[in-house]
Amino acid sequence: MYKSFLIKYAEIGVKGKNRYLFEDKLCDQIRYALTRCEGTFEVVKSQGRIYVNALSEFDFEETVENLKTVFGVTGICPVVHVEDEGFEKLCQDVIDYMDRVYPDKHITFKVEARRARKNYPKNSMEINCDIGEALLNAFPEIQVDVHKPDVLLRIEIREKIYIYSIVIPGPGGLPVGTNGKGMLLLSGGIDSPVAGYMISKRGVKLDAVYFNAPPYTSDRAKQKVIDLAKTVSRYSGPIRLHVINFTDIQLYIYEKCPHDELTIIMRRYMMRIAEELAKESGCLGLITGESIGQVASQTMQSLMATNDVCTIPVYRPLIGFDKQEIVEISEKIDTYETSILPYEDCCTIFVAKHPVTKPNLNVIRIHEKNLDERIEELVKTALETDEVIEISYR
Ligand code: ATP
Ligand code: MG
Repeated sequence: MYKSFLIKYAEIGVKGKNRYLFEDKLCDQIRYALTRCEGTFEVVKSQGRIYVNALSEFDFEETVENLKTVFGVTGICPVVHVEDEGFEKLCQDVIDYMDRVYPDKHITFKVEARRARKNYPKNSMEINCDIGEALLNAFPEIQVDVHKPDVLLRIEIREKIYIYSIVIPGPGGLPVGTNGKGMLLLSGGIDSPVAGYMISKRGVKLDAVYFNAPPYTSDRAKQKVIDLAKTVSRYSGPIRLHVINFTDIQLYIYEKCPHDELTIIMRRYMMRIAEELAKESGCLGLITGESIGQVASQTMQSLMATNDVCTIPVYRPLIGFDKQEIVEISEKIDTYETSILPYEDCCTIFVAKHPVTKPNLNVIRIHEKNLDERIEELVKTALETDEVIEISYR
């Protein structure tokens, strides 16, 4: 029944040159999402609108599900095409459409016609009135409401005539690629994939880094992170994942620093290395899944101690969220089931029984001096042995 989709997007703040950038990126992301669907499609910009036209048979549900992953899309309208074979035929087509889409006629409606082709014999007002009348005659229960109709029935006069009324909500946000790139610190937990999703929703492309600690962490733990990155890339587009071997750095910190400060010092080295990678790859900030007070390493004091080593912005989109709120998003974006798989995490292995909850920044800095002898070389080696994995969702 449906031959195309009209893609709605919020245009607020999108003017002039930015509008083209916005629309082009949106089209790119729509095409990326459609590569996962059966069938061939074209994505076209036409008179200030974006259409996805099906050029073959396609699976409606699958296509809609994938269009729902594209940030920037606020609504997906399935469109029926009919040939222009005179006004009477159009009235009949619209009656058929309403009959199929709204079996229950106890509804109010309003017709809103738009002529993309000005040589049509009736103007928009006339089309509205005459089609409205035809519907009232065809269905005794139906009523007109021009202010708050249940059904806003759109008729677009183009080469063919487009009929649509259903708006399936999209995810909103901004198209990925309209807002630079960020480096996501991606662990195997619940929070960081959600953090990546949220920043990506603001139009930011993602790179990611995972700190791996073999043999203390297994290949399964690494695979879990790859799987999480894959799921996030369904929304964010392809992700370049850096896997950093963090074992020697962790062992060295374990050897040289007080154990109750291990987590903080370790996190400071994660941030330093992530920042190095970010700078090399043109990322404009770091992204983490931290939330105030969630664990000892996320108190205000701990966050301050971690943040101390960063010179580029650190985005923490979950900072004010409760765990339950984060879990809800992770369920919605389908990362939850993977996140809760019980594989070891590099942080839990070396973690102290009683980590400091209120680290003193000066004390941390002093204790970090114990690492002076070898840490630079270890960081250098970690960066040189960086394994890069290109992740995309297929
Ligand atoms: P998550 O559920 O995201 O793992 P968490 O509640 O377990 O978070 P922490 O382990 O303190 O919290 O980690 C805080 C943040 O630091 C994470 O959200 C993530 O961004 C980053 N992080 C932690 N461990 C790693 C790791 N091994 N590799 C990459 N980033 C990490
Ligand atoms: Mg974690």
